[in-house]
Amino acid sequence: IQPELSGDFAELMDWADGVRTLKVRTNAETPADAATARKFGAEGIGLCRTEHMFFEGDRIVAVRQMILSDDEKGRRAALARIAPMQRQDFVELFEIMAGLPVTIRLLDPPLHEFLPKTDAEMAQVARELGVAEKEIEARAAKLHEFNPMLGHRGVRLGISYPEIYEMQARAIFEAAVEVRKKHGKTVDAEIMIPLVATKRELDLMKEVIDQVANEVGKLNGVTLDYKVGTMIELPRAALRAGEIAESAEFFSFGTNDLTQTTFGLSRDDSASFLERYQRRGIFEHDPFATLDVEGVGELIRIAHERGRRTRKDLKLGICGEHGGDPASVFFCHQVGLDYVSCSPFRVPIARLAAAQAALGVALKTD
Ligand code: PEP
Ligand code: MG
Repeated sequence: IQPELSGDFAELMDWADGVRTLKVRTNAETPADAATARKFGAEGIGLCRTEHMFFEGDRIVAVRQMILSDDEKGRRAALARIAPMQRQDFVELFEIMAGLPVTIRLLDPPLHEFLPKTDAEMAQVARELGVAEKEIEARAAKLHEFNPMLGHRGVRLGISYPEIYEMQARAIFEAAVEVRKKHGKTVDAEIMIPLVATKRELDLMKEVIDQVANEVGKLNGVTLDYKVGTMIELPRAALRAGEIAESAEFFSFGTNDLTQTTFGLSRDDSASFLERYQRRGIFEHDPFATLDVEGVGELIRIAHERGRRTRKDLKLGICGEHGGDPASVFFCHQVGLDYVSCSPFRVPIARLAAAQAALGVALKTD
């Protein structure tokens, strides 16, 4: 059943929209989620996590092949198998969003999730690459990390294998051209680089993206309009926001990772003692659910101020889980962000919370 807002609730939401200044986008990578979010009033996609697309159907087979190839040629061959599907993914999202902004985050995988796990998977990759199974096992072992969330992920993967981001950028631009030809509408594409710590990382990736945009534009006789920006999810990125903004047209605060890296608290493993921390009054809330305004929030304030000092029209949003939490939305309004982005079913809550924030009514989270 497709959810729909109707009756008194829809009217209330209309009132809320008349009051709020903070835009509300959604986190979505499937057409179904994007369509649901639009019905709930999302004003664009604030985060499309492309790594989720890489697990679809049998794409993961090509992904494993890409990761375990030992040369660029092998990786490019595997990427060529994924490219048409990736282009179609973006065509569908652009069509559903019909001119609203769509922020596509380039691949940000914990690498270990892409590695073959069973003997049968190992054997399959070995067969496809035409190398011995033992060799594949050795390559997989080399990629093993003890701390993958702080390892070879985000932009670090783009630096190691720029051909991955190149394929994704091409898929985005070709999809934008296709949608424009089909519907006569321009696409508002924002390309986002994850886990950036330094300006140089962003510059290197921007070079790849701009070059692909040039090629695709020339080939199709069009000038492509797009933005390149970064996630701010490491304390260093927040502190160096002034120089990072020289190369970024927008920032999106990835508060899941920013919370993890600010507290030095694993977002995957800390549940066992978080409850005790709350009971003992050490934490007022679970910081992964409600933004820690004093610590993580301070980094957001700093990045906001330093970023906008460099670039007055720097677009600022948040796409961590906090984007759908009323108390956190209140903070986002206060600090002066342009939008929050949250999962589809939290979009109505975020719209209401944004209106209440604009009216100066602080909300309690429980
Ligand atoms: C984040 O870190 O807040 C974020 C949105 O990215 P992800 O959850 O995919 O790491
Ligand atoms: Mg993140």
